[in-house]
Amino acid sequence: MVRDRFAPSPTGNVHIGSLRTALYNYLYAKKMGGEFLLRLEDTDQTRLELGAVDNLLDALNMTGVIPDEGLTKKDDVICQVGEYGPYIQSQRLDIYRKYIDMLLENGQAYYCFCTKERLENVRNSQKENGETPRYDGKCRTLTEPEIASNIAAGIPYTIRLKLPEDHVIRVDDMVRGVIEMNTNDLDDQVLLKADGFPTYHMAVVVDDHLMKITHVIRGEEWLPSTPKHVYLYECLGWQKPQFVHLPNILNDDRKKLSKRQGDVSVGDFLAKGYLPEALVNFLALLGWSPETEQEIFSIDELIQVFDLNRINKSGAVFDRNKLNWMNAHYIKQLKADEFVGKMTPFLVDAEIISQDEIETKHDWLLKVAEILKDRIEYFAQAPQELEAILKRFDTIEDEEAKVFLKEESSKRLYQALITKIEASDVLDAVRGKAILKEIQKEEKIKGKLLFMPSRIMITGEMHGPDLTLIMDVLGKDEVLSRIKSIAS
Ligand code: GLU
Repeated sequence: MVRDRFAPSPTGNVHIGSLRTALYNYLYAKKMGGEFLLRLEDTDQTRLELGAVDNLLDALNMTGVIPDEGLTKKDDVICQVGEYGPYIQSQRLDIYRKYIDMLLENGQAYYCFCTKERLENVRNSQKENGETPRYDGKCRTLTEPEIASNIAAGIPYTIRLKLPEDHVIRVDDMVRGVIEMNTNDLDDQVLLKADGFPTYHMAVVVDDHLMKITHVIRGEEWLPSTPKHVYLYECLGWQKPQFVHLPNILNDDRKKLSKRQGDVSVGDFLAKGYLPEALVNFLALLGWSPETEQEIFSIDELIQVFDLNRINKSGAVFDRNKLNWMNAHYIKQLKADEFVGKMTPFLVDAEIISQDEIETKHDWLLKVAEILKDRIEYFAQAPQELEAILKRFDTIEDEEAKVFLKEESSKRLYQALITKIEASDVLDAVRGKAILKEIQKEEKIKGKLLFMPSRIMITGEMHGPDLTLIMDVLGKDEVLSRIKSIAS
């Protein structure tokens, strides 16, 4: 059975690239009727951020990329589900130690008592001589008694992998093909750190094996580490999983996606009012392409068509315009009430309405939603768009607009609008439409000469959303007062 995993380190907000990794693992497991698990890689205690796990699980729950096994959040409680736990690496230290001891016994690993200062000096002098910095192997040849007395003296140590000389390690990656690496070009990597925690390399191999992972689908930045992992599999006599390295996500300038060019965390996007389903759809196409030209996919459709063989090799450019286009598409599909529900918090934040008014102004919000539906790409744009409509204009700047107002028919239109609106109990979109129709008939003012000056008198602009909807949102008194102010 296919078993794959998302194995994030809990450091801050969830990067959009991490969500893509999680999504691809999820899609593949679901497609294959397999299992997708979440393991927390918290062996780097210096990078640990509290709250990050919560954040991570919320992001996955919101986007529907939900693990079958491992760490999950149910009813707001973080829990671990499955028979291969614990799924938090810091709770598995004994397990790693057992395999590290096995490597020590087999002569495949060794104790290293070098101090940080010594390692630093070695590295610096290698750099000065133009060599690639690497461990010089000083502790490789320590004798048993030397090791025992160092340990007894309480000298801190790490445990390193003892790489053989001139051994070729072969990595078979589903996206990148076969990559070969000679151990002469590799460092004797640390497996156990001085703080008693394993390094990522050791822990990832042990866990993927014990958790019966069949496919390791992760970002390309881990490709250079993979030969080290493959070598560990060989040392421990374990079967390797299938490796699948996903292309980097790039900015427009083809450099790695960075915060400098805008939002990069899932939380940032959700907070701006991007819809989870749009993010999922967009990320699915960032590094993978379907056989057809289809671009809009629900998560269930993605499960059907997702295929590891169609993952691209080259970096995937994060095209924010495309994300906006896609999100706008999903926004338009929302039911009116859903739209209002998602838009309202942004209007409250911008103090356009207050929390207390949400219920009483529900009908008004529905009208606002009707106008904004075609005009925003994500909900954080709603306040500004709405404010532009609600804002009183002082003067009419546009020369062409002024010409329209000077038309002989505009004077009659002005009078007729005032009379008819004053005579109406309410001015909603239906009444607004009827008024324009009546004026057309009675005053014989048609087409542009009817619609343009009406719009200009009410909005100060020549273009914008449906005028009758605007009348509806502004209401009778405001529309009247705007039209009247034109004459002054
Ligand atoms: N803990 C690694 C990370 O933070 C995961 C690498 C892997 O999937 O092997 O991305």
